[in-house]
Amino acid sequence: MSLTIAVDLGGTHIRTASYNSESITPVAHYRARTNAHEPGVFDRLVQAIETVWHPDVTSMGVASPGPLDPYTGTILATPNIPEWKNFPLAQKLSARFGVPVHLDNDANMAGFGEWTFGAGKGHHNLIYLTISTGVGGGVICNDTLLQGFHGLATELGHMIIDPNGPPCGCGKNGHVESFSSGTAIARHTVAQIQTGQKTSLQLDGGTLTAKQIAEAALAGDSLAISAFARAGYYLGIAVANYLAIFDPSIVIFGGGVSQVGDLLFKPFQESLHKHTFHPHYLDDLVITKAALGDDAGLLGALAWARHKRNNEMMRVA
Ligand SMILES: [Zn+2]
Repeated sequence: MSLTIAVDLGGTHIRTASYNSESITPVAHYRARTNAHEPGVFDRLVQAIETVWHPDVTSMGVASPGPLDPYTGTILATPNIPEWKNFPLAQKLSARFGVPVHLDNDANMAGFGEWTFGAGKGHHNLIYLTISTGVGGGVICNDTLLQGFHGLATELGHMIIDPNGPPCGCGKNGHVESFSSGTAIARHTVAQIQTGQKTSLQLDGGTLTAKQIAEAALAGDSLAISAFARAGYYLGIAVANYLAIFDPSIVIFGGGVSQVGDLLFKPFQESLHKHTFHPHYLDDLVITKAALGDDAGLLGALAWARHKRNNEMMRVA
């Protein structure tokens, strides 16, 4: 018997689980607070892995916020965990637990999870987009997870839509994330209210959440509706660009903001059709919601560890 451990390292929670050879139902699972801005994240991570440890574990997959180098297993820097700079996470975990550790960024792992177990099963060319406080992406191209030369490929949220656009979470301007993330929707709405636009929304200490704006939009508030329409419009431009680059058969949307439905996706579809280079990209293209919910990163890390292990066994055999 051989078990695999999957880790989903998030800004808020560390989730760990162990799985039998082919199952996606965990043998054991555990969740702890990351307390990302306090020292000792690595020790909390080790403890969370020990909690689900089993002597027959043979490999481990880790989904982590990036940017990171998946080839060396190094976290380059992550705004979520300030104490980690050029932190050799895979090497340190491997030394601690004595098994190979395979690391990649959370959006790539979620995309790989949706491809292996979720909404993208059976497709050969897939784009996964998660829209929450930020925008992340993962791409499967001809049955291969695209990682790139440095392992930094498919940062779809940081594609430039307008270099003079609003600031992005990464510090640059006009990225997809700066138009279409929950943070961007909230910031745009607050700015509109401050210019005197009429709305039912009340500024609570000068801020709003995308969820509050979605509720107002569903109740018919025109400013809130236009905020999602704007996000959808720019998302349509972004996906038109992705189609031209990757030509997928499926685009999968995950993340909290993607749950709002037509508020975002009607204007998205209109914009996508308007901006797509050739209509043939849209023939038989599936646009759908993610199937794995909050488990996408964890199951992606599981699928990735198994995939790497199978490749290794084939190489040896
Ligand atoms: Zn950015």
